[in-house]
Amino acid sequence: MFTSLFHDSRRLAMSRLLILYTGGTIGMRPSPAGYVPGEGFAERLAAQLAAHGGEALPSYRLVEMAPAIDSANLEPPTWNRLVEVLARHWDDHDGVVILHGTDTLAYTASALSFMLGTLDKPVVLTGAQIPLGQPRSDAPGNLALAMQVAAHPAAPREVCIAFHDRLLRGNRARKVDSLAMAAFDSPNAPWLGEAGIELRLEQVPTLPEGTPDFSSVAFEADRVGVLHCHPGMSPRLVETMLEDSRLQGLVLLTYGAGNPPGLEGHLMERLQRATESGLVVVNLTQCHRGSVRQGAYASGATLNEAGVIAGQDLTPEAALTKLQVLLGRGLRGMTLREAMATPLRGEMTAPAAI
Ligand code: ASP
Repeated sequence: MFTSLFHDSRRLAMSRLLILYTGGTIGMRPSPAGYVPGEGFAERLAAQLAAHGGEALPSYRLVEMAPAIDSANLEPPTWNRLVEVLARHWDDHDGVVILHGTDTLAYTASALSFMLGTLDKPVVLTGAQIPLGQPRSDAPGNLALAMQVAAHPAAPREVCIAFHDRLLRGNRARKVDSLAMAAFDSPNAPWLGEAGIELRLEQVPTLPEGTPDFSSVAFEADRVGVLHCHPGMSPRLVETMLEDSRLQGLVLLTYGAGNPPGLEGHLMERLQRATESGLVVVNLTQCHRGSVRQGAYASGATLNEAGVIAGQDLTPEAALTKLQVLLGRGLRGMTLREAMATPLRGEMTAPAAI
């Protein structure tokens, strides 16, 4: 399903970066129905880079996903396809840039961080809010930053997101603004770097480096879900969701420091039954920033009794993809629960340090 297009065969022999194009606004064209993935991305990319100082950027080899997608349509098996391409080209390049739609970019960055594990070169995801070639497009700047980071000898060996002059840990990032150019942030983690006149890489504690794991993950639909608590939540809908025998992992989004609604005891009783029969439930806050303190309030303490894991300061994207990857790798029961409560790739603050 992937086609390899070589932007410039002269450069190919010495290309420093692999650029993997998956779709998204960065390569879209206007149509009467709104933006759609467009043709001829390789040529447009080359033309735009040439017009924006591309000669000073590292050489690259472009691999395009076919068909390019609006990332709203992304499904987990695509992550396996991306990993396959990375495996095929890994040894030939110093770093990787993945061009991706912004809608699910944080999910892909998180998923890849858990799938690949340790890295020995950077994998940098980016995209754009305005397509390449359109007036005021942020694509050339985002692209240049991602390429410079991916080729930088001191860049963190991890999956990160370069967007609007920010370098973020991929599994800590969220799309925080649907309209602004500064579309991404990592509310619970310091930025890994920032680009002003100079590119500054922060001295944050680095993750262990090593050879990536390119093995594919057995993703299955219907295994994970999200329950977003709200006033007026229907016990009947909770019941229906938790009764689904295919559900193996649940992200529970509660209020503030991790407090669920009581629902007259119904929610807790139902959650306890579900965890006893093997469902792994991770509690996260609905707040934009902060962490759960399961037990600070009596309402939250009940979750400890119901066997719900405190997800600390995980983002929903990281919690969901971590569950999907670990379930797909066959983890179950206590092993899965322990892995969900433990930072694997810098995605959460360890309980003792919070
Ligand atoms: N819908 C687009 C996508 O995620 C939005 C974007 O790329 O900014 O593919």
